[in-house]
Amino acid sequence: MKCDKCSAPAVLFQKYSGLHLCKKHFAADVEKKIKKELRKERIEGTLAVALSGGKDSAVTLSVLSDLLPRQGIEIIAVTIDEGISGYRDKAIESAAELVTKLGVRWEMASFEEYFGVRIDAVQERPCSLCGILRRSLLNRLAKTVGASALATGHNLDDEAQTVLMNYLRGDTGRLLRLGSPAKKGLVRRVKPLKYIPEKEVALYAILKGIPINLDECKFSAGVFRAEVRDVLNEVESRHPGTKYALIRGVERILQLTHREPFELGQCARCGEPAVASLCQTCEVLDKIQPKNRDAAP
Ligand code: SF4
Repeated sequence: MKCDKCSAPAVLFQKYSGLHLCKKHFAADVEKKIKKELRKERIEGTLAVALSGGKDSAVTLSVLSDLLPRQGIEIIAVTIDEGISGYRDKAIESAAELVTKLGVRWEMASFEEYFGVRIDAVQERPCSLCGILRRSLLNRLAKTVGASALATGHNLDDEAQTVLMNYLRGDTGRLLRLGSPAKKGLVRRVKPLKYIPEKEVALYAILKGIPINLDECKFSAGVFRAEVRDVLNEVESRHPGTKYALIRGVERILQLTHREPFELGQCARCGEPAVASLCQTCEVLDKIQPKNRDAAP
């Protein structure tokens, strides 16, 4: 097949747009979508980029470290080591290779050092507890390096899964919080890959020779998100554009919905932002290690 924009061989057929794209026009399409998201975000000063070593965060860091320093924005890669043997250590090797290649400043923090836990040692629901601790530590690390915003590698598939999971759980509170402005104590999140399908992110990384780790975390299998991902992929294959429509649908609902502004309080134990007397991180740590929770993390 030939590219619909030139006569070069196509590397991809985008079912949702009906276009065949060659390597050059596919890369341009990905970068155009990222630039569009960045323009909406008006980033200034220092931007922290969450770098796990996987394809999404590696592509985010590669494209942003090419675009933003030209506009006077400093990029700092931040990595969290959750303590998952055989997975995170390999991903950190890929991350190290990438930051060296790009010449980007890199900061790392581990659950062990901040919270005294390794996810390997958690018996019940390690994945959902890990997600809460990771969000919290990424926020702390971004604040520590003085970042005005934190970019994450969430792609179109991740975002559509989150929307559908919230619908299926009837969790309207979380749905309405999607895209709400950052609260005091929380570093603003930006998602430059929000409208790029996961497969295209992987293809971009491969075509550009970006070092990535493609292993899957052993704790991800069997979680609700994995079931939702399979359902969505099935529907998307028969009805191209479904994932995009899910996200746009929620964005339209949010525009039409009057949301009362709310401020976060402070966790009574660690002082981090919290909706209740204890923040989610301290609640999670109480579940994991109830006997050792007298001191602040
Ligand atoms: Fe943590 Fe779950 Fe991600 Fe594994 S899949 S790193 S357990 S959040």
